[in-house]
Order: sequence, then C-alpha cells, then structure tokens
Amino acid sequence: MSPVKVNVALSGLLLVPLYSFGFSYETPSVTPEVGSGYEEKPGWSAASFAVAAANPLATDAGYQVLANGGNAVDAAIAVQMVLTLVEPQSSGIGGGAFLMHYDGSDVQAYDGRETAPAAVTGELFMQDGEPLPFMDAVASGLSVGVPGTVRMLEQAHKEHGQLAWEELFVPAITLAEEGFAVSQRLHTSLTSDEALKNDPLAGQFYYNADGEPLAVGDTLKNPALAEILRRIASQGSAALYEGEIAEDLVNRVQSHDVRPGSMTLEDIQGYQSVERDPLCTPWQQWEVCGFPPPSSGHITVMQILGILDQRPLLEAPLDNGVSSSGWLHQFLEASRLAFADRGRYIADPDFVEAPGGDWTLMLAPDYLASRSELIGDTSMGDSAQPGNPGELNVSWASQPAQPEYGTSHISIIDGDGNAVAMTTSIEQAFGSRILADGGTGLPGGYLLNNELTDFSFVPEVDGEPVANRVEPGKRPRSSMSPTLVFDGETGELVASLGSPGGAAIIHYTARTLVAMRDWGMNAQEALNLPHAITTGGDVYLEEGRFPDATKQALEAYGHTISERELTSGLQAIRRLEDGTLFGGADPRREGVVMGD
Ligand code: GLU
Repeated sequence: MSPVKVNVALSGLLLVPLYSFGFSYETPSVTPEVGSGYEEKPGWSAASFAVAAANPLATDAGYQVLANGGNAVDAAIAVQMVLTLVEPQSSGIGGGAFLMHYDGSDVQAYDGRETAPAAVTGELFMQDGEPLPFMDAVASGLSVGVPGTVRMLEQAHKEHGQLAWEELFVPAITLAEEGFAVSQRLHTSLTSDEALKNDPLAGQFYYNADGEPLAVGDTLKNPALAEILRRIASQGSAALYEGEIAEDLVNRVQSHDVRPGSMTLEDIQGYQSVERDPLCTPWQQWEVCGFPPPSSGHITVMQILGILDQRPLLEAPLDNGVSSSGWLHQFLEASRLAFADRGRYIADPDFVEAPGGDWTLMLAPDYLASRSELIGDTSMGDSAQPGNPGELNVSWASQPAQPEYGTSHISIIDGDGNAVAMTTSIEQAFGSRILADGGTGLPGGYLLNNELTDFSFVPEVDGEPVANRVEPGKRPRSSMSPTLVFDGETGELVASLGSPGGAAIIHYTARTLVAMRDWGMNAQEALNLPHAITTGGDVYLEEGRFPDATKQALEAYGHTISERELTSGLQAIRRLEDGTLFGGADPRREGVVMGD
C-alpha cells in the first residue's frame, strides 16, 4: 500500500540542532494552505499507522513521532503541544481532556477534566437570583477550571510512553521559536471574536494596534509558550502545577478586572488526573468503548444508537447520499430522549450517584427498548422527559440547556496496534479569553479554559438540586466522546474517532458510527454527511446541505427546523479487514490525516 499523502506540501529538511533525542524533528518547510468553510478531503490510506488531528502542523508532529518509533501516546502528546500553539482557540495546556487508550489488550480511560476551585459555591454563575449572561461568565476569571491536560498526558505517558517525555515537546518548542504561519481558521476565529482583544496580553499578541487580527500566513512566534514548554519538557507537569507558572495562572485568574475567580495555588497543586473504567457497550457486531461520567458522551451516544437499533426502518436510511427524513426523524427523536436523561442524571461521578448505582443501567437493552416505544410518527418536540433507568436517593432537577463550543479531537493508531482517541478542550473558542505567559514576561503564552461554564448555572430548579451544579473540586459534565470501536467477536480494534462541537459532539459521533457500520461508508464519506441535531427543542440542520424535500418531510413529522453552520471537527481512523488503515478528517475544519 502506498504511503499516505497529505494533500498539501509538507516536505523540508530543517533539522533542529538544539535537541538530540531518539528522533530528529524536521519542521515542515511549507506551511499548508488551508481553505475556509467546507473543503472536500480525499480520505487517506496507510499501511500500518496513522494520526488525525485538527491542524496539519499538529498532525505532522504526531506523524514524525510515530515514524521515529514513538507510540500512540507519545504522538498524542506531541500533537497536543503543537495544537496549543497553532490552534490555541480550541485546546491546550490551559485546558482539559479525555483520553481513551488501547494498549493492544485493554482499554484505559484517562480523565484530565478541569476541576472547580475549592472556594466556589453553587451560586458561582448567579447574580441577584438570575444566571449571569453566558458570555459575561465565559470571559472572566470565574469560568477557569484547574487545567488537567498536562497531568493527564504525563500519567498516560508514565504508564504507556515509549519515547522520552522531553522529546515529545521538540516539535511544539521548535515551531514556537521559529514561528508558524497563521491558518485561515485561526484568523477567522480571531476576526469573529469580540472579547479576546480586551485581554491585556492576548490583545497585543494576536491583534495589532488598530485591533486588526493576525492575517492568514503571518508568521507567529510564541516565545512565552516555548519557554513554558521547555520547562514542562524538562521538569514534567510540576513545572505547570507548582512554582512560577502556577503562580502566574493564579494571578491571572484572581486579577481579572471584571470578574475575578477564586483559584489558588493549592487548587492547582492538588490537581490529579484520574484513570477511570471505560464504558464498553455491545452494539450489534461491534463493541463501542467510550468515556464514562463526568462525560455524558458515551452514555448519550449509545442511548441514541441503542434506541435506534430498536426501531424498524420504514424507509431507506439514505436518499441521494443524504440521511433520509424517515431515518432523521427517528434519530432526532432518539436524541430528544437521550438528552432528557443526560440533563437529569449525568454529572461528576465523585459527586453524584448513578441511577441504581450503575451507569450501565442507562444503557440496558430493556430500558432502551422501553424508551424507543415512546417514538411515534409525530415528533415529541420539547416534551421528552427523562426515564427511570434505576432508583436514586436524590431527586434531581433537569439542567436547563446551555451552549457549549470549541475543542479539538485527535485519533491515532500506531504500528503496534495501540490506539488513542483523545478529545481536548478549553471549552469556547479562546476559552476564558485570558492569555497567560507563565510569568516569563515574554510575548505570547497559552489560553486559560472556561470549562466551568459547562456546569449548570442554576444550582437548583423549583427547590430540587441539579446534578451538574457547581461544587468545590468537582468536574463539569462534558459532551466529549472520544471513541474506540472493537469487533465484538474477535476483539480487534476497528476504529478511533471523535469530534468537537459542544453538545452536538454526541450527534456527530453517533451518526458517524451508523454511517460506518450500517451504510457502508468509509471514514471520510461518513464525516462528509450533512448534520442534523436536536437536544430536545428545535432541530438544527446544517446550512445549505439538505434538499427542500427533506426539510418539508421533517416539518411534516412535527419538527421545528432552522438551518445553521454546524462545524463539527470529526476525525476518524478505521482499520480495514486487510489490516491497513483508512482515515478521514472533517471537511468543515482544517484537519488532515498522515501515516505510513
Ligand atoms: N466543553 C465542552 C464539553 O466538554 C466541549 C465544547 C466543544 O466541543 O465545543 O463538552
């Protein structure tokens, strides 16, 4: 099989003299041009290993690590560090992540989700008895959770890494020192953001004196980040969680000029990533493994799929390459039911009990069969109610719907058959809009997350507590759905996939799985399909991508429809029957797949 080709030039031989390790990092001499909006992608074949990430420079860093003897965890670390630099709006060392890992025999789930500081109360985002306006809460010190990504990667590396930790930072440090070309997506995100330029450091770093953002192709160096990464490379996560960089983080949060947060050094020093038991759910011939709470991702994805598997299809699932209205109706109704359960039950498992004491009760076939019976020919609209998967000692109120954004997904399969599916986030585009330079005094730095706005703003409804309310030390509920798929019979790895997209991550992931398992689509075709989502109220269709006949048919089922951009950032790598790999990257963002 021919080596994977990226559809952009990534050749170059600029060896980096400062570091001599097991692999020599070659900076791509040509920074790929990327389009904006929807860009057709070919899908990529690879003989034995592949990496998919949201930016070509990040994918390339992972590729070089894999090509030089690193494994999937090593590559994920290199990719994440480059993403911090080149896709700062989505993820980074100031945020949190969930990493699913397959070591050739077992699946591990590493939780690097942010935690709330010890001094928060359930009223964190309330003011005069009302929830704060969402953006006021986001762009503030209040929204910043204690970052978890670096600790989590360090834990995964200690258990599974192959190359030295320090080496994995070479690509990001090199690119931060030498500069990289600002991509279309970063430029567009800077242009459309209103709050980032108010931050004293970010306003100077990403914008000129007239408030104009960096242009596409501008070379951006980030000396502060290079220095911070150098320290993390040589000292480990302690460099971020103790000492000068941690003090600077606390200072940025506490000195926010409008809404300071309460984070302390003790909060940061005490942060621990957690290895959790993954949830692995049989789904006909496949077994799908995903992240347990505090992410709602796997449970909600598999509720939708489990309900759908109970529904006899009345018409073909596809109509001219688009999901048919009959299939979409069932998918949307299943989504309404699954989101009703999610809003009632799912939160940090260290703080709330699963219904009946076991999260898998929410996925029990009998329970899902009873839920599926609620689907009729007329949409239930916004009236879906949570079911009763198991007894609880507490009576939870449902969390009102809130927006979620941002985020990046990395999928990797290495030559030894280890795999990573990692979804990583600072929540919104540019997180809390606070840039931290680690106390270096150098230009640039890394962005702090606003992940705490994933908590329910209202702590209770009609006197009943919301499971996902703010509490000290708690992790906010997530939608992130990093997924590893296995053959139910042989146990062999089938695929690694996931996406950003807030709550819609769940729909994107679920529909991709159906397209790959049931509709004969490869990992690229499955990602190209137009999206349709609902979390319980209106249905959103991806703008300009559905025929009028589909819209009319959905309205006839009783759905209230509007169109909008639905910018998923799916990446998927599938292992084919002959053992080779085929990867896809979302045409709506600038990701690519590389491998050999
Ligand atoms: N913060 C969100 C979550 O953890 C993800 C945001 C996004 O993907 O846009 O679920």
